[in-house]
Amino acid sequence: MSRIYNFCAGPAVLPLEALEQAQRDLVDYQGSGLSIMEMSHRGKEYDAVHNEAIDNIRKLLKLPEDYGVIFMTGGATAQFSLVPMNLLPEGQSADYTNTGAWGSKATKEAKQFGKINVIANTEKDFPTRVPEVASLQFTPGAAYAHITSNETISGAQWKSFPRTAAPLVCDMSSDILSRPIDVTQFGLIYAGAQKNLGPSGVTLVIIRKDLVEQVNPKCPVFFRYKTHLDENSLHNTPPCFAIYMLALCTRWLLKIGGVDAIAQINRDKAAKLYTALDASGFYKASAVREFRSDMNVTFRLPTEALEDQFVKEASAKGMKQLKGHRSVGGIRASIYNAFPVAGVDALIAFMKEFEQKNG
Ligand SMILES: *Cc1c(COP(=O)(O)O)cnc(C)c1O
Repeated sequence: MSRIYNFCAGPAVLPLEALEQAQRDLVDYQGSGLSIMEMSHRGKEYDAVHNEAIDNIRKLLKLPEDYGVIFMTGGATAQFSLVPMNLLPEGQSADYTNTGAWGSKATKEAKQFGKINVIANTEKDFPTRVPEVASLQFTPGAAYAHITSNETISGAQWKSFPRTAAPLVCDMSSDILSRPIDVTQFGLIYAGAQKNLGPSGVTLVIIRKDLVEQVNPKCPVFFRYKTHLDENSLHNTPPCFAIYMLALCTRWLLKIGGVDAIAQINRDKAAKLYTALDASGFYKASAVREFRSDMNVTFRLPTEALEDQFVKEASAKGMKQLKGHRSVGGIRASIYNAFPVAGVDALIAFMKEFEQKNG
């Protein structure tokens, strides 16, 4: 077996332990004689998996009783509409921060549902950044405020979060469970699974339970958070296999010490890379220092031709998917929870070698 160093921004690297467990379980789930993909989502085997996934999330995030865990489908992209459909009553407005490609998409979609106040816009800033928390001016009476905790494409990350009067809604797709957070600062958190939680196909929603009660009567039953919270995410057939994988990935995270332990590892991995970038006159980090993402490390080389060559040569050495998103160019090393420290060391060694040859 030979596993590459997979720097893909998503779907991203998964813990090897989780993949190996899935492989063992694949055709005969724990002596049941069938795969987890073939069994009823209302049977006792799947039920245990489903509830373990929810419990693991509760433990990892230290969720208070008044917060619920929901599994949905449609990715974070579906949440761009579901959030305003559920939380933006007619005649009210919501505050949005546009901090990059994802913040922009969330904002654009929300505008279809009501009045949106864009209270900060750093989308086009380079070096990339997010706003200073202290500079934010929230709109009195707004139904909620929306932020994107980590801009996966540009590589800018909020390092602290505002305390808001209205519920704070956060797209945490690319850094959930990567560092400790105080959940009580948020009304709703959503995250597509394929960066830091498991494979694509399931979307995690954490919601303060009182927020599901103000249902917009025009919202279809399936699209109401209340439906899924009340029915323990079993209103209809859930993405069983994706949830099973999420259970394995979160089990792995609990085993290695949970969010505090992984946060230390993540900080160390990112710091090593940024230190290497800063020590060189050849590479240039793309984010403002205080907002540099620990998950998506973005940087530039002196020319695009050198960037292409860098990506090609790294790939030949088993370091794959380092090409930055087509909308911003450059290099992006996505180093989520499951990305090994050895892969970061390998990249740094390659960067030094490449600079020596081409610098
Ligand atoms: C990947 C990503 C999305 C989109 O997720 P889908 O599951 O493809 O809908 C949205 N927001 C952020 C921050 C992301 O990283």
